[in-house]
Amino acid sequence: MNRYSRLLVCSDDFCAVSLLLMTEKRQFRAVKGTRDILPPHSALWNWFEQSARETLQSYNFREIRLPIFEETALFARAVGADTDIVGKEMFTFLDPFDRYERQLKFLDEELPKLDMAAQDLQKYLRDFSRKLEDLPEGDSISLRPEATASVARAYIEHGMQTLPGNQKLYYVGPMFRRERPQKGRYRQFYQIGAEVLGQSDRPAIDAEVLEMLLVLFRRAALKDTTLYVNSIGCQECRGQYVELLRRELQKIRDNPATAGKLGPDSQRRIETNPLRVLDSKLPEEQPVIEKLPRISDHLCAACRQHFAELKEELTLRQIPYKENWRLVRGLDYYTRTTFEVTATGLGSQNAVCGGGRYDGLVELLGGPAGVKGIGFAIGTDRAILSIQESGNVPRLPGLSVFIARMGAKAYPLAVNVAGKLRARGLAVELPPQEMKFGKALGLADKLGASYALIIGDEEVSSGTFTLKRLADAQQKKLNENELLEYLESERRGSGA
Ligand code: ATP
Ligand code: MG
Repeated sequence: MNRYSRLLVCSDDFCAVSLLLMTEKRQFRAVKGTRDILPPHSALWNWFEQSARETLQSYNFREIRLPIFEETALFARAVGADTDIVGKEMFTFLDPFDRYERQLKFLDEELPKLDMAAQDLQKYLRDFSRKLEDLPEGDSISLRPEATASVARAYIEHGMQTLPGNQKLYYVGPMFRRERPQKGRYRQFYQIGAEVLGQSDRPAIDAEVLEMLLVLFRRAALKDTTLYVNSIGCQECRGQYVELLRRELQKIRDNPATAGKLGPDSQRRIETNPLRVLDSKLPEEQPVIEKLPRISDHLCAACRQHFAELKEELTLRQIPYKENWRLVRGLDYYTRTTFEVTATGLGSQNAVCGGGRYDGLVELLGGPAGVKGIGFAIGTDRAILSIQESGNVPRLPGLSVFIARMGAKAYPLAVNVAGKLRARGLAVELPPQEMKFGKALGLADKLGASYALIIGDEEVSSGTFTLKRLADAQQKKLNENELLEYLESERRGSGA
């Protein structure tokens, strides 16, 4: 087949859909910055996500499933219009179907008016086509670059503040940012995130979230992680600190002796978002940044106490951490606690998790006042990369049993026993066609099966099975019950 068809969806007035048949031959590749996660690799992903789910559920977090796209305005408001994410990294499009629906609604309203004299009708039609053209464009939609905004939106939309206790929610899924693809940085990447929303901002909540994160990393074989924490203050004290920082940065910029020390990005951020200057990784900017005033010296009494209590809590829970006064994070909604976890083997993209408090976010999005929040997002792609680079990949269960059968009578027996083994949780491959035993065993080996179950004339007549362990070619003769019990206990023993 060297013909394929392509659907062209036009956003013309009446949304014509035309089918274009093309005859050229071409191959498709995944779009830049996206990738396929193939087996057996995908088993490691599933295992990692499953370990995360189990850990999160043991802390009483429950899953929230969210849409992949939202109104662009939600991200602009929550993440901040000035951030890199919203400013240049979102995949945004107009929803043409909104416009189409508006047009239909408009027609429904207008058609009853058509009962009129001919000259009126002419004028009416001219007005009509002008009004039709003036209908607003479709709504602006964006693929989600992160999910905290969606969680907060859902919390408000479903009145979750009326539910008992704090809402402890987690999500697992893809995010989208138009970044330059490189190792550990993709345009479609995956996050596992958790959020606590409610009336309380006790540091015990922050500490529990951090404890859970480290338990999760330990359980999921992510070794050599470092937790960095900081407090960036509340609306009040941070505002004053940001002004101080801006003045200091302006002095550096305006002094001819130091003017060249800041690159164009930092120069721009002096006005738009001076905190982000602290995030700079440019080597030539480091000496200047190190001398800037530090937020820890400018926290208000309440924020200072919150941070001190958090650190006491971390000690109580024996959580190792480092303070990093420059950890400000790239999103506008953070207040007080911010944190990041780095892992080894990732080069410069070494952050596997970022998070922090966002006490004002729910109110900012039009929700009830006084709702506090804290959360994190783990970058699954990077976590997996780090596990692989450090050689800690766990042995994950693969194919347990390959069934090698010969003879017409062996087939019904094979189908029957395959069903029973599968019901006991074993992965079983029953080839669709008969194969010579030598060839079947060779294939079983290539597929990485642990056992080959041999069913031939002899087995059929004696009512036994021959089970061959492929690692050492050891063979056993077992009746059906013995076989099922033996393989099930092997499966349990291997933790599969
Ligand atoms: P970075 O500084 O690496 O760009 P970030 O501050 O933009 O990260 P967050 O928005 O806090 O990251 O997202 C949390 C985590 O998601 C990051 O620590 C990282 O592990 C992961 N992450 C973010 N962007 C990407 C991406 N483009 N590709 C892969 N993982 C990503
Ligand atoms: Mg980023």
